Amino acid sequence: MLDQSELARYNRQLVIPDFGEEGQRKLKSARILIVGVGGLGCASATYLTAAGVGHVTLADFDIVELSDLNRQILYWEEDIGEKKVMAAQRKLSKLNPAVEITPIFTKITEENVFSIIDGSQVVVDGLDNMATRLVINSACVKQKIPYIYGGVSRLRGMTTTIIPGKTPCLACVYPEGVRGLGVLGITPALIANLQALEAIKLIIGHSPSLAGRLLLFNGDDMKFRIYDIKRNESCKICSSVSLH
Ligand SMILES: [Zn+2]
Repeated sequence: MLDQSELARYNRQLVIPDFGEEGQRKLKSARILIVGVGGLGCASATYLTAAGVGHVTLADFDIVELSDLNRQILYWEEDIGEKKVMAAQRKLSKLNPAVEITPIFTKITEENVFSIIDGSQVVVDGLDNMATRLVINSACVKQKIPYIYGGVSRLRGMTTTIIPGKTPCLACVYPEGVRGLGVLGITPALIANLQALEAIKLIIGHSPSLAGRLLLFNGDDMKFRIYDIKRNESCKICSSVSLH
């Protein structure tokens, strides 16, 4: 059951058709892992916490620097020098004290990835490198945990939702990513919010609209494009997972 405070806090989303109190209860009992709390992770963590996801785990091993502040909106000048996961936990707890925020200050490796993703219903990508993404992808396929990929550069970004057993995995597609140095804060915020929306839809049982489809955003010409993506039948990561 939702109490009076929750009914008030989430009123504007409770009245959305097909969301309602049942959707809110599902969010409340959900466990979401955000890997990487940079430009992408700060935005997805903020909106998932505001929406009332019950448990949000943050995994990152970085320290806040001045050059992060143009896009990593959970960090302010006073946080420079602090572990990102700790600063993020403090801010998110003030935004919504009912959400249990678990910080994990560690670099994700093939050795520790299973213990980090264990128990998560959805993994949301906030990483900045493909090598670690592929480690997450492989572990999520093995554990059958949905993984919502996101990547950004400059004014461009992309995202897709990977459902093990149903969609291609990241290794099937191996997007080259968006290349080029530099990023404006708005690009990761935009992509991260699409990821957060996909995560919420997954949890409350609405079909994720980017399962098996890659969305590309280009801020230069303000266009969104969506491409169907195909499974690589000889993919070393997901070809052993049966389709259903
Ligand atoms: Zn694959």
